[in-house]
Amino acid sequence: MILFSVVIFGLASVSLTEQIDSTLERTWIDVQPSIRVNQAGELEMVGDLALDSSIFIQVWDRKGALIANSFSASQLLRPLDPVGVSAAEPVFRDAFVDELHMRVLTVPLEVGGRPFGALQLGANMATVDAARQILLVTLVVASLFSIAFAALVGWLSTRQALSALDAATRAALEITKTNDLSRRIPQSGPPEDEVGQLVQAFNLNLDRLERLIATQRRFIADVGHELRTPLTVIKGNVDLMRRIHETDEESLKGIGSEVERLTRLVGDLMLLAQAEAGKLPIATELVDLDTVMLEVFRQMRVLARGQVRLRIGGIDQVLVCGDRDRLKQVLVNLIGNGIKYTPAGGEVVVSLGKVGQQARLTVTDNGPGIPPADLPHIFERFYRAEKSRVRSQDGKGFGLGLSIAYWIVKNHQGHIEVDSDIGKGTTFCVWLPLAKGECREEL
Ligand code: ADP
Repeated sequence: MILFSVVIFGLASVSLTEQIDSTLERTWIDVQPSIRVNQAGELEMVGDLALDSSIFIQVWDRKGALIANSFSASQLLRPLDPVGVSAAEPVFRDAFVDELHMRVLTVPLEVGGRPFGALQLGANMATVDAARQILLVTLVVASLFSIAFAALVGWLSTRQALSALDAATRAALEITKTNDLSRRIPQSGPPEDEVGQLVQAFNLNLDRLERLIATQRRFIADVGHELRTPLTVIKGNVDLMRRIHETDEESLKGIGSEVERLTRLVGDLMLLAQAEAGKLPIATELVDLDTVMLEVFRQMRVLARGQVRLRIGGIDQVLVCGDRDRLKQVLVNLIGNGIKYTPAGGEVVVSLGKVGQQARLTVTDNGPGIPPADLPHIFERFYRAEKSRVRSQDGKGFGLGLSIAYWIVKNHQGHIEVDSDIGKGTTFCVWLPLAKGECREEL
């Protein structure tokens, strides 16, 4: 505003002064023919000096005598501009005559290079000064008003923005204080502005944090639950041996199998922790999945004997890049589940083939199927469908088998799908990318 005011004031002043100057120049041109030099070498007037003009006009000879003046300047016996009167060139100057501000044009009068005197034309600057004054006051008032208005608007808008931030901060602190992660920061303003987006991002983080902590709590509860049974069995057996003061073979066997179960649980958990963090050490080699499948098939057939029929539906030669042992574990877990959950007399069919650039491995059983409500969760840690029905009949399942399979496959850039019909059976389908020549290390 200050810069703007200075520029406007400067331009207006210059333009007004130029107008006055050009009026003075025009008057000089009008007056010029009325002045001449007589034969005695003196200045003399041959006409009126625009008597009714508001311009002050004086003609001075070179000795400093006033030769003529206009009516408006009749009261003045001194030059309008005492400094400029002796100028060798036409000159415009501001001068004060009896405290009257004037713009004075002094024109030296000369003939053939000989000076004879000077003509002074003066214009009253009162109107220009008044106009300048009004402009100055207007600009100062407008500037002050604009500054005050900008400050007010700035303060109001900042206060509004900051109050939303303030509310968000208070809500966030309240959540921390009460430890209540189910609370969210209320959206007070429009959701698309900066504060709204910040609140949204914060709430999304809270969602994630809440889910994470709930998973963590469930996980700890599940681990605790899984640890309790074997520890109770071990403690019971130890107590018994202590009472009878001798080592009981049966009790030792019980302790041994529970310790084995605990070891397996710890191993599974560590494997899962590594796999979920994407840090599962995986050997990258060319794996002939058909051979692996046949190996597992032979092992599992022994396990299934007399209970369910295990057969191969179809087998193709399939090469993938990955870790043979881990892939074997996937197959063991899936086929093991098929055998475990299919009632006696049922059938588990394993197939391996290629679809496009993918290897497709399916394990289908005609068991009880998985309820649709459980399907989205079966790959979660410790999740067991229909808990009352099968709480690990053989005492071996922790609800970790499918999680481990899921993460191993994911670490091999593949994925697992499940399709299940209640009463008809379940099909697990593993998709893995086929090996393209050499296997690279970064898998
Ligand atoms: P578990 O140790 O209980 O077998 P899993 O992670 O292998 O744990 O499986 C999770 C749950 O998924 C099982 O408890 C079971 O309810 C269900 N499930 C897995 N495979 C099958 C299947 N072939 N038929 C029916 N239910 C199954």
